[in-house]
Amino acid sequence: MARIAFIGLGNMGGGMAANLAKNGHDVRAFDLNHAALDKAKKAGCLPASSAIEAIEGAEAIITMLPAGRHVEAVYADAVFDHAEPGAILIDCSTIDVDTARRVAEAAAARGLMAVDAPVSGGIAAANAGSLTFMVGGSAEAFARAEPFLADMGKAVIHAGVGGAGQGAKICNNMILGATMIATCEAFALAEKLGLDPQRFYDIASVSSGQSWSMTSYCPVPGVGPESPADRDYQGGFAAPLMLKDLKLAMEAAASVGAQTPMGQRAEELYAAFVDGEGATLDFSGIIKTLR
Ligand code: NAD
Repeated sequence: MARIAFIGLGNMGGGMAANLAKNGHDVRAFDLNHAALDKAKKAGCLPASSAIEAIEGAEAIITMLPAGRHVEAVYADAVFDHAEPGAILIDCSTIDVDTARRVAEAAAARGLMAVDAPVSGGIAAANAGSLTFMVGGSAEAFARAEPFLADMGKAVIHAGVGGAGQGAKICNNMILGATMIATCEAFALAEKLGLDPQRFYDIASVSSGQSWSMTSYCPVPGVGPESPADRDYQGGFAAPLMLKDLKLAMEAAASVGAQTPMGQRAEELYAAFVDGEGATLDFSGIIKTLR
């Protein structure tokens, strides 16, 4: 089993680090937040007093941080100067494609192997060890990172070169944001047309309007498998995180001149939702604003 540094033990990283410890790894954990560090200790990780202390001697260095600026800072302040020469650097945070590419280039310039490996699946999947990882980096770096990621997830997929994991993640979530809004709109319209929501679900879920947003995460309470709609839109995938991902997708689209009118509209609608009652709700709660 390996010695692993894990930096960023929040909602996602806490469960991920715990699964690595459960799988027998020696996990040296660090977070600026003491409560997060205590929780990791209870889950079998060894708390470190700094990122540098966690990194020293580690075969794999995993980060799960809020945004690109945090990743770039941790890499510049600790990872680049203290990683063992053969260590694999794995950033699982969702960050902008440009920063992911910059980090990959800076690692390569120092002779270090790095991958961007953002996840699909939320806090429940992080705790259960059933995340999907989409990985950007060389074939060699992917092969080094895969066994560590497999201990935290159900699928590990090589997306392409450095930055491709982040590209896949934001394109996937752009589809998710747009299909959730489309699903919400359709259910709201069906209700106004006098259709019973369950009857409409029975029809659309086996017709061409079917999508993951409908059949795995239906935004209408009491319809489809259990989802945040059944808990008044508490828990799940927070609307501000969906907005974050849509903003990253729009930034990436602008940087390469891609046309994304649906993604842009989805971003506008989620921005308005998050400005109001959506600040603390699951992203499927946007149906409230469309009813
Ligand atoms: P979070 O805010 O709960 O956790 C981030 C942690 O990083 C915090 O504990 C914070 O103290 C720590 N941190 C920040 N700067 C640090 C530093 N310099 N050194 C050490 N620790 C530092 O966020 P989260 O929900 O765990 O999300 C983490 C990443 O995963 C984000 O990029 C997010 O977009 C992505 N993500 C989240 C979800 C989700 O459902 N929460 C799903 C998929 C992807």
